[in-house]
Amino acid sequence: MTIRTRFSPSPTGNLHIGSIRTALYSWLFAKRFNGTFILRIEDTDLKRSTMNSTQSIIHGLQWLGLNWDEGPYFQSKRLNRYQQIIDFMLNNDIAYKCYCSIDRLTYLRKIQLNQGLKPRYDGYCRNLKKKYIPDIPYVVRFCNPITGKISFNDQIRGNITYNNEELDDLIIQRSNGIPTYNFAVVIDDSDMNITHVIRGEDHISNTPRQINILKALGKKVPTYAHVSMILNTNREKLSKRDIKVNDILEFKSLGYLPEAIINYLVRLGWSHGNQEIFSIDELKQLFSLDKINKSSSIFNIKKLLWLNNYYINKLSKNYISNLLSDYFNKEHLNVKLGLNIIDLINIMGPRCNTLKEIVDESKYFYIEDIDYDFSQIKPYLFNNSIFILKVIQKKFESTINWNIKNLLEVIKSCVTELQVPFHQVGVLIRFAITGKISTPGINFVLYYLGKNKSLLRIRTFLSKISDYSI
Ligand code: GLU
Repeated sequence: MTIRTRFSPSPTGNLHIGSIRTALYSWLFAKRFNGTFILRIEDTDLKRSTMNSTQSIIHGLQWLGLNWDEGPYFQSKRLNRYQQIIDFMLNNDIAYKCYCSIDRLTYLRKIQLNQGLKPRYDGYCRNLKKKYIPDIPYVVRFCNPITGKISFNDQIRGNITYNNEELDDLIIQRSNGIPTYNFAVVIDDSDMNITHVIRGEDHISNTPRQINILKALGKKVPTYAHVSMILNTNREKLSKRDIKVNDILEFKSLGYLPEAIINYLVRLGWSHGNQEIFSIDELKQLFSLDKINKSSSIFNIKKLLWLNNYYINKLSKNYISNLLSDYFNKEHLNVKLGLNIIDLINIMGPRCNTLKEIVDESKYFYIEDIDYDFSQIKPYLFNNSIFILKVIQKKFESTINWNIKNLLEVIKSCVTELQVPFHQVGVLIRFAITGKISTPGINFVLYYLGKNKSLLRIRTFLSKISDYSI
């Protein structure tokens, strides 16, 4: 049997972290068994579906490398197919037209609630003698079995059983002719020969309804696996407040790497012993549904940042350098005007957790003039600060071997000569040449900035600081 899985988002918003994890599990499961992964856009909710959302879903998946083997299929383009099945079901008494008015349904619901019953359709039109009443709008309902049970073996949660009594005759086509989610999904899963439906646990209660429709149509029932929710550290549903981003493409613009996102998300609910780091190739060999955790997972941004830092330093410098170029371009920084980007990755990579952070923290290598914010250096300034910096400036001017080791020696010799703490000297040089309080080792920055630029900045700083009252 060829494994066929699908990811079938509704394009009604952004692709968020929970959906991506579901897509990833579906994709990996197909890859693990040399199967086929299908992308299906479930856009039958015409009012809420947007082209923007479809595009961001497609870009998000492409960015992560979750490429589909078939599709994207659009449900909105399959309306004729759904109509064909609806007609078949009506002709074979598997479905019926329901003419009940909103008023009747509201009244029914009110009575049921007053009696402490779960609101459900009472099957009034299922028993109508007259199957077609002209000029009255209708919906089409599925004749759900009235008695018996429906069970399925969820690959993550084990056996799940529902009594048919609990399930009412669900609407499969609205009065405007558009099929409902539960119906379209069944027809698509069947037509597309989906063998494994891997989706969020919010769909568990839909599954018995979908299986009943499949059975009524004599179609094969796929295997189901419902993935648990992702929660915040307070064990509440993850919201925008928690991760500030609810669109996978925002992770991209913040400088996360696809490798880190994939590694993070796969471990968020799936494990292989205690292993934390997985390459995609390894996952394609190891992934299995039975190792998915059935309890909810807690989203931890610190771990994601840790993994992102790991991959920034682990992946090839050329690869990271290519990615970084985009972030530099966005900031209108010309990387050719400053430190070579591979050296930059070597010195900033270990300190930064995202690509954007690397760019934000290293602009001083690529700009002409530093815009000093003197309030930042104020706590570190003393009466002798200008004197100290002038002594250092002289030493640097006469330094011939402008290299990392020697520059450290030069600074150390000043420290000994002037009898001041190293950090007091370091912070002054650092601020003068970068406009920042924290950077990689000062001798590294001096070296990479070069002698001319470093001295020019120290001169500029000294001329500007004299206007600033210490
Ligand atoms: N379109 C549904 C959603 O976005 C998914 C349906 C399914 O996976 O069966 O929640």
